[in-house]
Amino acid sequence: MQKEFVSAGEILKNSSLKATRWRLVLLGMIMKSESGISYQELSESKDFEGHRVTLYRALRDLEEAGIIEKLRDASGNVKYMMKPKESGSHRLHPHFSCRICNSMVCLTDIELPDISLPAGYTREQVVCLVYGLCKSCASTTS
Ligand SMILES: [Zn+2]
Ligand SMILES: [Zn+2]
Repeated sequence: MQKEFVSAGEILKNSSLKATRWRLVLLGMIMKSESGISYQELSESKDFEGHRVTLYRALRDLEEAGIIEKLRDASGNVKYMMKPKESGSHRLHPHFSCRICNSMVCLTDIELPDISLPAGYTREQVVCLVYGLCKSCASTTS
């Protein structure tokens, strides 16, 4: 899966975002975390010394550019993870959240229906979250 490694700088270059210092740092941290990284983990990381507003804006920019996904895990914490490339920016997919280790996984093999709204309503996000035990937690608790 790691065959073609793309750097944080390349991802920003391919999007409309300028490669600012904090965007690069934050994107690098999110790329490293395979099962999502929380807002708290990002803000408390030694790699990030910027202001809270800087953190908030950088994450919002990355999210709006379709590079990362912002989700809530089983415990209600906000998590950030890379948006899978294969899914395209408009394809909706559900997520799995482990209630023990709080890891999150994109279930990209499943496509959610395009939910249509009444006239005048605007969709901003569709959340479909499956809670449970991940493979490693299920094997240690049984
Ligand atoms: Zn788990
Ligand atoms: Zn996802």
